[in-house]
Amino acid sequence: MTMYDELGLRRVINAKATMTPLGGSLMPREVLEAMVDAAGSFVDVGQLQKAVGERIAALTHNEAAYVANSCAAGLALAAAACATGTDIPKIYRVPDLTGMPDEIAIHNSHRFVFDNSFRLAGFTLREFGLSHVTTEWQLEAALSERTAAIAYVVAPHLTGKGYLPLQTVVNIARARGIPVIVDAAAQLPPVSNLWHFTREVGADLAIFSGGKDLRGPQSSGLIVGRKDLIEAITLHGSPNIALGRPMKVGKEELVGLYAAVRRYVALDHDALGRLYEQRVVTMIGALDGASHLHACRDWPNEAGQPAPRALVRFAPPLSRDAIVAALQDEDPPIAVHLAGDDGILLNPMTLEDGEDLIVARRVRAAAALPV
Ligand SMILES: *Cc1c(COP(=O)(O)O)cnc(C)c1O
Repeated sequence: MTMYDELGLRRVINAKATMTPLGGSLMPREVLEAMVDAAGSFVDVGQLQKAVGERIAALTHNEAAYVANSCAAGLALAAAACATGTDIPKIYRVPDLTGMPDEIAIHNSHRFVFDNSFRLAGFTLREFGLSHVTTEWQLEAALSERTAAIAYVVAPHLTGKGYLPLQTVVNIARARGIPVIVDAAAQLPPVSNLWHFTREVGADLAIFSGGKDLRGPQSSGLIVGRKDLIEAITLHGSPNIALGRPMKVGKEELVGLYAAVRRYVALDHDALGRLYEQRVVTMIGALDGASHLHACRDWPNEAGQPAPRALVRFAPPLSRDAIVAALQDEDPPIAVHLAGDDGILLNPMTLEDGEDLIVARRVRAAAALPV
């Protein structure tokens, strides 16, 4: 009997994505073991944060790194750090930003659900550009002495299309001495993104979810980038009783994310890519020949990650919604991504071994039900 059984809950097969409502991702054994190890004794958490940050910075070729308790928390801490620097009285005044730069400039097309993290830290969002097009002068015109940072969201699945290239934004921001914060929560793989945005493009900070492809603790996030800004973030963060205290990171998450990053940079990502391709082939093969549906490979996935998915489209008399409901009803329920009005997408990245076939057979069985 599992804990979920005891609590009266059904485990879910996740053919959708690394999503918080479904539990993020699954931690590999070495991450779990690292957390159990950390849980076994007391430690100076401030020193642990520093040691973990230094190791992760080295592993990801960054100047510095910080473990937050989510990407969303990282956005709030990063913005606050850009406004306060390491000035202690200012740090303890946040979210009251009187006398500090209090705006986060953001593309109109980058407005998205998580930008409330900036408002949590006291900032006003200063939008520039239009949903379908943004010009350099629109960005320039939005910048002033009130600008604490420019937020840049890399998330084609959540944002509009009309944004400037990150390199253009970085060049304009650099000339003004304004930091650029990249929300790269779901931009792994490729693993090189851990240093691409900061080291190669020159953004000041980039933030990733710990509970997505890194497969660290669900309540963890990773900030990488400029050393002075990471130092300011550290002052805002727990165990200090400032903005970051209600977003505290435990010793288990600190060590867990370190183990996850260590594992991630050492993974054979090509082999993993081949495994995902194989799962997609398996799913398509198991659906082949079924009536009123068509399955094919789709690329890239919704977050723009270089990974395939199986796209299944249903034709009358089948109803996509009825099939999704059937997948949800049975035990274990299967979560899938919706595609248009008539399709579903099956993601191999969040499946466990053998679940590719289970998912495809369940879809096939649902499609064979009388309608
Ligand atoms: C998932 C996601 C977040 C939130 O990440 P958490 O680590 O769950 O806080 C923020 N921004 C984008 C673009 C995301 O995809």
